[in-house]
Amino acid sequence: MPHLAIRLTEPHRQLVQVRLQHQPQRQLLRFSLPQWTPGSYLIRNYVRRLEGLELRQADQSVPLRRTGVASWDAELPSLEPLELRYGLVAPELTVRTCHLTVDHGFLALAAVAMEIEGERWSSHKLSLELPEGWEPFVPLPQQPDGSWLSSDFDQLIDTPVEAGPHPSHHFSVAGVPHRWVEWGGDLPAEDASWLADVERVCLACCRLMGVEQPAADHYLFVLHRTENGYGGLEHDLSTVLQFGRQALAKPDGRRKLLQLVAHEYLHLWNVRRLRPAELTPYAYGQAVVMPTLWFAEGVTSYVDQLLPHAAGITSEAEVLEDLGADLSRYLLSPGRRVQSLRASSQEAWVKLYLADAHSANSQISYYLKGAVLALVLDLRLRHQGSGLPVVLQELWRSHGAAGRGYTETDLIEAFSRHDPELEQLLLHWLNSTDDPPLDEALAFVGLRLRLEAANAPWVGWQLEAQAGALVVRRLDRDSPSQVAGLTVGDELLALDGYRLRSADDAERELKRRAPHLERELLWVRDGLVRRSPLRPVEPAVQRWVLELDPKASPATAEQRAAWLQLARP
Ligand SMILES: [Zn+2]
Repeated sequence: MPHLAIRLTEPHRQLVQVRLQHQPQRQLLRFSLPQWTPGSYLIRNYVRRLEGLELRQADQSVPLRRTGVASWDAELPSLEPLELRYGLVAPELTVRTCHLTVDHGFLALAAVAMEIEGERWSSHKLSLELPEGWEPFVPLPQQPDGSWLSSDFDQLIDTPVEAGPHPSHHFSVAGVPHRWVEWGGDLPAEDASWLADVERVCLACCRLMGVEQPAADHYLFVLHRTENGYGGLEHDLSTVLQFGRQALAKPDGRRKLLQLVAHEYLHLWNVRRLRPAELTPYAYGQAVVMPTLWFAEGVTSYVDQLLPHAAGITSEAEVLEDLGADLSRYLLSPGRRVQSLRASSQEAWVKLYLADAHSANSQISYYLKGAVLALVLDLRLRHQGSGLPVVLQELWRSHGAAGRGYTETDLIEAFSRHDPELEQLLLHWLNSTDDPPLDEALAFVGLRLRLEAANAPWVGWQLEAQAGALVVRRLDRDSPSQVAGLTVGDELLALDGYRLRSADDAERELKRRAPHLERELLWVRDGLVRRSPLRPVEPAVQRWVLELDPKASPATAEQRAAWLQLARP
């Protein structure tokens, strides 16, 4: 079987040294490095970090012929064992890239492991050589010689590798062994109830899916605690989380991290094993267009806020605050009027993962709108005696547990089985830029959205003070500031002759006069000072607040409690 031998013994060089050993069965071979990693839909061109590629056989160098940006062919002189040697620079600390420093090593193996043509479904052996005092954390079965075995190439590159002198902790979920390993902190040591709460969240995921035990027979949590980071990547037997120290220190920090834990753990089912048909099997060499990421990520994002509550950890008021914040963020996204949810899923590779200062005007995240749609579907189905948990469990049994990928049609059928009108409605909500009917859904559980207006006239800019300059960071399409001629990156100098140095200065000056009066803006682009009229309008919505409707019938309290508990009706 192919053997991937990795050396991390010179961490100060940030260079991962790789030897891929193999007993070839034929003389014409192709090697290729994945272009992306499942769960993160962007062509990452991992090959850009590769250097010193060399193929050796019987102590001789064998020529490689490049056939693509990340693939090579070789004509072997014989069927002797071969070794492919290369180095990879590992400077990028994210959950889907490689990071090697004197403090630790983290490898996303999609960025490291070369696929040998014809060996995709063969077992692969993995071995690591580490600096003195480092421990390996690898979620694969370990062999007596210290190496690990994956069932095939897919499982190999679905394996994150963490290594370092880190603390780690064992616990179990419904009898299944779990480990928690952390770089940059040690939550189980700092917080006596941390692991017990993680276990409760994991059990709540099992209950939601209607199963006794987790879908994996062992599981590893890796947490990278950084200053300001945030992220997570799901795997079949593990997850890698990144969370900021500053965020964790906030009053809601622990709750947000538990939601991230819930999100990635639910992916054990939704997206890893209950998977879009387009990802069965994965095509690592190209972008794979999928219309159903709203289900994979939106449903997961929606329930991740409810799961810590269903686990008995967070209060109803906290869940409503979090759901309200997301609904508000959605309703304040201008891009929801431009991009449909279906298009958002299909365009993940070129939009969501490449978002910039212009994106908010023309795109809507399938995480965010997908969560809004999941909420509407859940409440609508509950009104009719079923609910999202019922649909999730049915899909798990019909597709996930059976290893069948689902299509968009399968999803629509699964929902419309409980509500025939959804066959048309769901398609409409996916294909149009209309908002799903939120008010109606929320009324069923005695809730309403209340708007809070901003307290200054609106011009539609977002400003940021940068090195003494006040710069336009974002601009709403068709807003007064865009009509005035501003673009992202322009520097503001003064409004009506008053110097602007901060966003607060700008707000204060806007408030000085009533909306619709012409103001004079002085600004700079490309080294030239310019002057434009600016005509602010009425204050816009600052945010939406999700609150109990005082006029709701008392019966809604019971519906609300069952809903927030993710209980089956
Ligand atoms: Zn996710």
